[in-house]
Amino acid sequence: MKKDYYEILGVSKTATAAEIKKAYRKKALEYHPDKNPGDKEAEEKFKEAAQAYEILSDEQKRAQYDQFGHAAFEGGGGGYSSMEDIFRNFGDIFGGHFSGFGGFGGFGGGNSRSYRIKGGDLRIRVKLTLADIVTGTEKKVKVLRKVKAEGATYKTCNTCHGNGSIVREVNTMLGRMQSSSPCPTCGGSGEVIDKKPDGADSQGLKTVEETVTIKIPAGVVEGMQMKVPGKGNEAPGNNSIPGDLLVLIEEIEHETLKREGENLHLDLYISMPEAVLGTSKDIETATGKVRIKLEEGIQSGKILRLKGKGVPNLDGYGAGDLLVHVNVWTPKTLTKEQKNFFQKMMEDDNFTPQPDKSEKSFFEKVKDMFS
Ligand SMILES: [Zn+2]
Repeated sequence: MKKDYYEILGVSKTATAAEIKKAYRKKALEYHPDKNPGDKEAEEKFKEAAQAYEILSDEQKRAQYDQFGHAAFEGGGGGYSSMEDIFRNFGDIFGGHFSGFGGFGGFGGGNSRSYRIKGGDLRIRVKLTLADIVTGTEKKVKVLRKVKAEGATYKTCNTCHGNGSIVREVNTMLGRMQSSSPCPTCGGSGEVIDKKPDGADSQGLKTVEETVTIKIPAGVVEGMQMKVPGKGNEAPGNNSIPGDLLVLIEEIEHETLKREGENLHLDLYISMPEAVLGTSKDIETATGKVRIKLEEGIQSGKILRLKGKGVPNLDGYGAGDLLVHVNVWTPKTLTKEQKNFFQKMMEDDNFTPQPDKSEKSFFEKVKDMFS
């Protein structure tokens, strides 16, 4: 009778996807052939765990299994007979712990697969305005990337017969051991160039200019790096995978709006009469102008908060605010008439500062903003 998949991985029936992945990783590392060379029982357990993981990590297959048990997959083949298949499917779960296919010749019966050679990554910088950052945007960039030339073909490497590695017997203090190293002829890909068209380099690659569209979400920050998978250089060979295009974000500083995380700050200057009588002002936001009302008697140093008019959260949870700092502009020169007016007002109680308790000082406001 087949063993229960949950039991194999040692998790409960209500385990989350993360718990299942973690449990599988643990089992796979424990029974990994690199750690248990020649141990058939460990190999069986390694395969068993992979089979359990394949079912339980797939929402739909897991639901079928929960309902019908092993019967759900009868007749569908199932089970891993080859270790290579396991690595092909789940290789990423092992991270950098093991060499993958390389140290592995004994299990594959000479049939082991080579490494998949990955092309180099390309890097570009993209300059964004504040409006780009607040709304999110798409940028088309031109990149020079290496691609496999049309007509270039590859054949199995004769040195390693496609294995990508060379296994040698070496004498050590512990006796004769097998040691494997990457094939010097093909560099580990298991393939070499067969036909090289005109204009291609020695590996069958040529450089082309390509326009790549990059989707940039709202809320990115200067210095952030984004990845466009597969848009880096291609690598030679039929089994190779292309590198990635890495996009470095640069912010173009806005003329009047200053960014501080998700909040924006704006200095607004109003005249003395405007402060006294109240007014409406069109002020700049990252995405256009909005009209705000300033009540009569507004104080210099007042901070008006426009909710949600800042930079959106990168993870999509709301947005910061736009903080408008009110500054009352005092004229440096006055006409004789104006001077007389203000001289008269010197004696007037209305022009004597009388901050009430609700009127916070500039320093208290700054303190509040950072707390
Ligand atoms: Zn080779």
